[in-house]
Amino acid sequence: MANTGKLIVITGPMFAGKTTKLLSEIQKAHKSKKKVILFKSAIDNRYSDVDVVSHNGARFPAVTLPDGAEGIKALYEAAENYDVIGIDEGHFWDDTKGLADTLNKLAFKSKSIYVAMLNRKSDGTSFNLSKELLPFADHVQFINAKCARCAKDATFTQRVTPYRTVNGEISYVGGKEDYEARCRNCFTPPPKA
Ligand code: ADP
Ligand code: MG
Ligand code: ZN
Repeated sequence: MANTGKLIVITGPMFAGKTTKLLSEIQKAHKSKKKVILFKSAIDNRYSDVDVVSHNGARFPAVTLPDGAEGIKALYEAAENYDVIGIDEGHFWDDTKGLADTLNKLAFKSKSIYVAMLNRKSDGTSFNLSKELLPFADHVQFINAKCARCAKDATFTQRVTPYRTVNGEISYVGGKEDYEARCRNCFTPPPKA
């Protein structure tokens, strides 16, 4: 049987519309009677513990996965029973290599996989998942946001509040009050922690 799998990466800075795009693909597949499952990381509980919610308020129920190998295993086992798999905020997963390998494997099993993830960190450096996942993608959609300062195309995510400490570690999770989209000209790297 022909392999109909595909791995689509939706990337860009915060407020670009990545989650909105992911939810629209998931909802389209759902309406066309495909078996759809959406995953989110346990780290991301900004708006809801059970749904994926975009900044413009769209939402869809999601399965929350734990960190590490346990979460990857659960994802693989659950995904077996679905046609279309969505993952929001892919960069939150800590086992990036495990996630990339697993999604690649699922694409070879005729699954359609959509991963929304940030293009880079708020300090301007890269995420491991980008390096590990992009080579496996069939299609990469880069979405710009609008710079909060000058309204030009934004590709940077700017932290505008001090990072908070959770259980002794810096937490990067934050929402509208903590981050802005900025263009290269308006972006300022944060001070070293
Ligand atoms: P992403 O997942 O890329 O962060 P979302 O899909 O959740 O983005 O949300 C994008 C939407 O957020 C835009 O269509 C717009 O309506 C809204 N938005 C854009 N900029 C801001 C902002 N600075 N604060 C709040 N909402 C914003
Ligand atoms: Mg999002
Ligand atoms: Zn700007």
